[in-house]
Amino acid sequence: MNSGTLAQELCSSGKFAIKILMLLGFYDCHDTLERLDDYLDRELSPGEQRQVKIHLAICFKCAKLHRFERGFIDDVRAKLEHVEAPPELIVNIRQSLQAIEE
Ligand SMILES: [Zn+2]
Repeated sequence: MNSGTLAQELCSSGKFAIKILMLLGFYDCHDTLERLDDYLDRELSPGEQRQVKIHLAICFKCAKLHRFERGFIDDVRAKLEHVEAPPELIVNIRQSLQAIEE
């Protein structure tokens, strides 16, 4: 493999951009994946949130995983929104709350 081909491969896969960002103190794949769940739950500090966002914008591998996890969470959320509580459960909860208040 000559250097031209290698440079092309690094650029096309985003690895070159990631290396540059790492040198500038930005997150690598490990740093990003470690924080992905908290990123999805919006539990990171604004600085960490930004770092993960930048990495996801340039790293195909992490972005793919992020899309998968995001899609999974959205699916679960959509399914939960369509589940109705049985009427007897609602009555039981209301009675329990009244019992606590009395
Ligand atoms: Zn990555």
